Amino acid sequence: MSLSPDTLVARALGGRASDTGAFPAPVSLGVTYVRDADYRLPAAMAYQRDQGSPGFAQVEQLLAELEHGTDALLMSSGMAACTAVFQALPAGSRVVVPQVMYFGLTKWLRTFGVDQGLDVVEVPTGDLDAIGAALRAAPTALLWIETPANPTWAVTDVAAAADLAATAGAVLAVDNTVPTPVHTNPLRLGAGIVMHSCTKYLNGHDDVVAGALVTDGSVPELWSRIQLQRQLAGQVPGSLEAYLLQRGMRTLTVRMRAISQSALAFAEHFSEHPAVERVAYPGLISDPGHKVAQSQMTGGYSGMLSVFLRGGREVALETAKATELFLPATSLGGTASLIEHRFTFEGPGSRSPENMVRISIGLEDTAELIADLDQAISRARTVA
Ligand SMILES: *Cc1c(COP(=O)(O)O)cnc(C)c1O
Repeated sequence: MSLSPDTLVARALGGRASDTGAFPAPVSLGVTYVRDADYRLPAAMAYQRDQGSPGFAQVEQLLAELEHGTDALLMSSGMAACTAVFQALPAGSRVVVPQVMYFGLTKWLRTFGVDQGLDVVEVPTGDLDAIGAALRAAPTALLWIETPANPTWAVTDVAAAADLAATAGAVLAVDNTVPTPVHTNPLRLGAGIVMHSCTKYLNGHDDVVAGALVTDGSVPELWSRIQLQRQLAGQVPGSLEAYLLQRGMRTLTVRMRAISQSALAFAEHFSEHPAVERVAYPGLISDPGHKVAQSQMTGGYSGMLSVFLRGGREVALETAKATELFLPATSLGGTASLIEHRFTFEGPGSRSPENMVRISIGLEDTAELIADLDQAISRARTVA
């Protein structure tokens, strides 16, 4: 029986302690595993860095089921998950990545990726013609996409990108952090690997750093190198993080539905605001990515949007300083709404527009969030 995401997350697969039946199963903190009288390892686990802790299996299986995959790996952060994929590629591998995506990965690729011998080709985000041309230009190991992409929320057609990758013999990997498996399942659209920063919506409470990778079994060679990479380089989370993550995930579907509904109403309000040049949110009918987003996202468009303000950098920066409910902080995907002047955060090399504030909608009352940004924009315009 294939179960709905609501049912899957609510009971976190129902895992309990095998001896007492305690639900949820207790956290296992031991890093080593004692051999039995026959010198065998009771659960085929020897050491926590190598096989993780017993609590990993439940979270990994839950992630695999939510993404319609066959196998998942918990990682110590979203960046650990991203970089493990690139570190598992042989030196000299050519990779095609978007110009605008999560900035930490751009920065890593431009420094360590290039230093370690990767041929990194950046293409305009979401541009299928540019992706196709880059893939045809030379043999390519990996196409990486993120959709909607941080922080401009440009949309990439996952199924079309998967076709281009398949034709070129490249693996398609998708950063699915923002849509979450509630709104998009990239493996079903042809991706071979899905990556998550579990720090964001999956945990959802701003108190865990963790990441994950999921596969559908279509890229066994790369996947086994990634498994070995995690084991030997040690990008494993702690047992407490794994436990907190499965606890946060138990409310994932209800949080995402509420957040996506609120974000759409919020985006609609500010897209009509006289002090606003544009709101980037794929859920808006006027958004350039809306049609593609509608075809590959189900049940909502997640909670991330960016507001481009008239008056340039000063007004944007002052707006980010003038909110009372929105916390002026980086990150996304928690219950508390956040606002950030992304250009200031990213620093040198940033491609974020200077008149833009990035917003993560949480679970507060929508009308109160709208009123808060309204007053912040008014105040910013008198100060700037
Ligand atoms: C936060 C984030 C990452 C990095 O995840 P960490 O858990 O912070 O390492 C990668 N991609 C996206 C889209 C993110 O939002």
